[in-house]
Amino acid sequence: MVTLTLHCVHCGSDQLVRNGRASNGKQRYKCRACGRQSRENPSPNGYSEERRSEILKALHERSSLRGIERTFGVSRNTVTAWMKKDLRRGNSQVRGSRAA
Ligand SMILES: [Zn+2]
Repeated sequence: MVTLTLHCVHCGSDQLVRNGRASNGKQRYKCRACGRQSRENPSPNGYSEERRSEILKALHERSSLRGIERTFGVSRNTVTAWMKKDLRRGNSQVRGSRAA
């Protein structure tokens, strides 16, 4: 039997307490260390906003999708989708340039 240890996606603490259910039926947890909410089993594409901006920031700095892919274990398709979303929201720092 696999014991799943949950960690807070925000601070990495394992001090999570059950905190009701999300609208999609997933168990929600609240972190006692930082007080923020976490979801159970976030899907591979369900990166947190913070994680996403961290990755996008790294991408701006290194401009290498392949490097990002290796470093963060996120597929370049995912990152590319985020960049497009960012462009649509008009808050991209790479205005005028395009990801190859
Ligand atoms: Zn936390």
